[in-house]
Amino acid sequence: MVLILDGKKINSEIKQDLSTKIAIKIADGYAKPCLAIVQIGNTKESTKYIEHKKKFGHAIGVEVLHIHLPDTVKTSDVLTEIQSLNTDDAVHGIIIQLPLPKHIDRDTIIEAVAPEKDVDGLTSENIRGLWTNDKGYILPATARAVLTMLEYYNIDVSGKKVVVIGRSTLVGKPTAIALMNKGATVTVCHSGTKKLSDHTLEADIIISAVGFPRLIDEHFVRPHQVVVDVGITFIKDEEVDKVHGDVDFKAVSEIVAAISPVPGGVGPLTVSSLFQNVFDAYERKISK
Ligand code: NAD
Repeated sequence: MVLILDGKKINSEIKQDLSTKIAIKIADGYAKPCLAIVQIGNTKESTKYIEHKKKFGHAIGVEVLHIHLPDTVKTSDVLTEIQSLNTDDAVHGIIIQLPLPKHIDRDTIIEAVAPEKDVDGLTSENIRGLWTNDKGYILPATARAVLTMLEYYNIDVSGKKVVVIGRSTLVGKPTAIALMNKGATVTVCHSGTKKLSDHTLEADIIISAVGFPRLIDEHFVRPHQVVVDVGITFIKDEEVDKVHGDVDFKAVSEIVAAISPVPGGVGPLTVSSLFQNVFDAYERKISK
């Protein structure tokens, strides 16, 4: 029987754990943790993701500030906003909701976030921490979600061959390096990889982060493997947006030892991982 890596279940356990920890801090007299989300413009997807984060935050006792700027705003005005969040002691985490409008200088904006409040783990300081495996750096939420999922099911990555498909700065690369830091032997595959199945068939663990439905089917896997599907693609089905992963779940789950579904896998865990990053930043701040 294939083991289903249930992100919903882990998400609800993390949610409960964070709620309890935050309630204890508040009972001890500390202020609530606070996450600031900076949105520029009105992208429908971004608004949906922000609503989701607000809902999760409020449910566990985190204050979520939504700073919504028009898409005509100048980079310099966004920088002023970030500076004021950086110096505000009541704010523990800052997210710049991506993507940004084209005229905004993305790298300058991201780099302006104070590294200790950069709960998306995108500043050069946190990337350096990831590369050097420093203590206390902030790992991007999706990579943290993948590690948490494997840990939860006692899937030790140390000494294992792991294939990460996808090399983006936001997902593929941090996941690959974080797994390497945990002792895995990591191969990163991407759009330039020839004969992807040659690599996936060699792996003990496959992490797919592409955004291409059914990229991984029965020809890419063998028994005893673990498959984590990070991919998310929305496809309209009878006027309703349905979410698909990168993996042909039905075909692959008949072969491998463990698999994460989409929906219900890495997706829900990414939100709780983000709030774990917020809580860690909050704890570091109040313990100073
Ligand atoms: P991206 O578009 O930046 O990167 C996609 C990567 O896939 C690239 O590195 C590219 O080289 C690689 N790729 C493309 N076609 C390929 C192919 N045929 N074979 C092998 N590799 C190929 O996307 P991203 O931001 O890294 O996100 C990847 C996927 O993960 C998307 O579907 C995204 O929606 C999803 N995602 C999910 C979560 C979550 O919480 N589950 C969070 C973030 C992103």
